[in-house]
Amino acid sequence: MVRVVYQWLKVMLNQLAFLSKPKLNSDETLESYILRVSISNAIPMQQLMQLICFDNQEEIVGSIPAFEYFNLFHSKTVNDNRYNGLTSLSHRLGMNSRSLRAVVIQRSSKKYSNNLASLSYKRINIPLLLFRKKLIPVCPRCLNDSEYIRLSWHIDLVKCCNEHKNYLLHYCPQCKSGLSYISRQNISLCSCGYDLKNAAITSLPSNDYSDFLLRISSLVSSSIKSGKSLPNKYFSSVGGDLHRILSFAVFFYSYINEKKHVEEDRLAKFFYYFITDWPESFKRYLSERKKKGFVHLIKCSNKTGFNEIFGTLLLDAQNLPDNSIGNNIILSEILSFLSEEIEKDRQGKGRNKLSNLLLTRQEAAIVLGVSINYVSKLTAEGYLSLAHKKLEAYIPIYSLGEVLAISNGNFR
Ligand SMILES: [Zn+2]
Ligand SMILES: [Zn+2]
Repeated sequence: MVRVVYQWLKVMLNQLAFLSKPKLNSDETLESYILRVSISNAIPMQQLMQLICFDNQEEIVGSIPAFEYFNLFHSKTVNDNRYNGLTSLSHRLGMNSRSLRAVVIQRSSKKYSNNLASLSYKRINIPLLLFRKKLIPVCPRCLNDSEYIRLSWHIDLVKCCNEHKNYLLHYCPQCKSGLSYISRQNISLCSCGYDLKNAAITSLPSNDYSDFLLRISSLVSSSIKSGKSLPNKYFSSVGGDLHRILSFAVFFYSYINEKKHVEEDRLAKFFYYFITDWPESFKRYLSERKKKGFVHLIKCSNKTGFNEIFGTLLLDAQNLPDNSIGNNIILSEILSFLSEEIEKDRQGKGRNKLSNLLLTRQEAAIVLGVSINYVSKLTAEGYLSLAHKKLEAYIPIYSLGEVLAISNGNFR
């Protein structure tokens, strides 16, 4: 009997509509929307989380996620109570469950570069490396226009507001703490009580760098609103659309910047020079790296791994967005740089040549655009020769010159 009453109560509770039904914005984060539902209906967040997840088995109720970890990318499984809970929440808010699920962020199967994870929002893949999870800056003017958090503020490449032409605000002007609407569970109010809508803004000066920042910000926001990776002519030298810009940023942050912690503005400026002067900026960088590497060479070049001079260059250039030379501008630029340098070396007199450097099986597979198993097959069939007999995948064994010659012969 008690169980029947409980089930009935549960069904009734799940059907109760909220009095306030805020309108969901097309570029809003799920956390921002849940916060607005909680505030406008005066329901404490913990209680709202319980209501959202209530239509699951009661034994699961104990594992209701905290608000900070509610978004789906925090979950390891697809079918957990968060996903089902969103359907009941949308019913209470009188909306289609698909519209609410559209602003969910999920883990994506797409990997960038050397196995770097990514997230997906609508149909946009966002490399995890470029996603601000804790400290999320805001535009005070946008908050004044409409009080909600734009997903674009979570993307590390977005430094300014393209509508109001000002830098995003990262710290509370009153208590100086980093802004995090998720941990303070409020959209405009800082935990010290300061209303961020009143914060003074810093306008962007009029120069090429500001123009670059505004274009990136505009490309990110418009792509997010439309759910498509939109193109922009300004970035045509690096592929043009948002997806390619994000690929470039991943490569820049992980390989060129070597994942070092650099002050955000300085990093953005480096990225600006790197992207606006592409491919010359990259060729200069590789040339410098080659020069330094050969000066400090310990063994002869035919006993030295390519990775001892160029580090994880080929591994980091993978999957941006894939390994086909027509799509992967970075990998294509690397291969043309190496071919040109090998040609120059051939005319020079030095004994240590770039073409003698040794590639691992994985690096050879990237250069040839084939699988590692296929490289083994080519070796067994005598198309590729081995510098020595050690066959472990991480040991360099193939000469760069030979692999590139096969690659340039349009071998696929
Ligand atoms: Zn704004
Ligand atoms: Zn504050």
